[in-house]
Amino acid sequence: MKKQKLDRRGFIKHSALGIAGAGILNQGEALLTTEEETTSGLKIKNYRTLGRTGFKVSDISSGGPENEAVLNQLLDAGVNYIDTAESYNMGQSERIIGRVIKNRDRKSLFITTKLMCMGKVTKESILKRTRQCLDRFQTDYIDCVMLHSVLTAEKLKSPGFHEAMKQLKTEGKVRFIGLSNHGSSFPSFGMKGEPMEKVLMAAANDGRFDVVLMVHNFLTRETSEKILKVYKDKNIGVTLMKINPVGDYLTIEGMIKKYEDEKKQVPPQFKIMKENFKKQADQVKAYLKVDDFKNPAKIREAAFRFALDNSAVHTVCCGCRNFDDVEKFLKLSGMPFTKQDEKTLGAYKQGFGSLYCRHGCGLCESQCPSNVPVNTIMRYNHYFVSQGREKYAMLKYQKLDGNQASQCSQCPGFCEKACPYNVPIQGLLHLAHQNLTLA
Ligand code: SF4
Ligand code: SF4
Repeated sequence: MKKQKLDRRGFIKHSALGIAGAGILNQGEALLTTEEETTSGLKIKNYRTLGRTGFKVSDISSGGPENEAVLNQLLDAGVNYIDTAESYNMGQSERIIGRVIKNRDRKSLFITTKLMCMGKVTKESILKRTRQCLDRFQTDYIDCVMLHSVLTAEKLKSPGFHEAMKQLKTEGKVRFIGLSNHGSSFPSFGMKGEPMEKVLMAAANDGRFDVVLMVHNFLTRETSEKILKVYKDKNIGVTLMKINPVGDYLTIEGMIKKYEDEKKQVPPQFKIMKENFKKQADQVKAYLKVDDFKNPAKIREAAFRFALDNSAVHTVCCGCRNFDDVEKFLKLSGMPFTKQDEKTLGAYKQGFGSLYCRHGCGLCESQCPSNVPVNTIMRYNHYFVSQGREKYAMLKYQKLDGNQASQCSQCPGFCEKACPYNVPIQGLLHLAHQNLTLA
């Protein structure tokens, strides 16, 4: 079989620390070309029961595919769960899925979409929106409709959503309902959210949600494992996102060098940050001497196996944008988490753990007098750095308008004392601002 590589991730920073730090983890990811290559014929090796839905789901699943050929290849390999949202690419993602699943055995697939319910939501509006989703999917029913990015426990109640879902279930148009959560603030909607733990625990106790899409990785485990235990006890289907928390955060030295090369004045906050980062930078350099840390794929794969090692987890939603991604993820299906993986991730955590702002946390945000949505900005930077979705991340950041991290440069950094993980927030927000604007 032939495949066509579709995309090119041109984003790899070659600053001294960018390569030396977490950035090296991106370096090994494929630089994609338009040439054709032979595929490996990889197949899904493990299926798990998606909680109370009873559906036998592939351990690797597909999130928001943007290309029919890529999605076809995933389905041919045995992937049977596809996650998308009404808002993804303005409905285009649902249309792509619709075209691909049209000629396949519908019952063998589990299709999920998500509806953002931020403002006033009536039963009628949700009925209308869900029917539009059905039209775009060209299907008679949707397996699961999720509340998209629920911000607070209160928002889970959404009477309009639940009344509409009740009717659609009776009509056989929707089989299950679920929710997704991965962040605490949504300033573009004028809303401040609650930490993931609070929202997801409330959802589990609510009793109406059959499936969740949440964050769990080896750096969020202190929180996410507590949530997973409850979800397992309640037999709720668990699908994961953001299982790989690594990224290119340490670019300060490179940035300073660039300023110096261009004979420009180095911003004073960069000098302060360099000093503040020194300890971590030294650790990074020490770890580089260890084999695993020279091989980004090893760490990425260990992180993947870690996520699937939890028996409460049923599938990992992967963002497969091209055939390299398909291959990269499929080969991890059914692979056990090993002692060596544990050692690798433990060492990574020790060296870089404080450079990751935990998805869905938000604990420090109440300390910010300027209402900067720390967790949201860090998430956008994660899209930019780790997922290679630069344009998307920049557009999201642009919408934060008055809440951007530009104001952090004049601040004593009140937020940092509130972070239990010692994240150097101010410095990372500066970096995020550099990445997400044309600064
Ligand atoms: S910086 Fe720390 S406290 Fe703030 S959201 Fe991130 S992980 Fe949580
Ligand atoms: S550095 Fe200051 S302005 Fe920036 S998020 Fe922290 S407290 Fe808010």
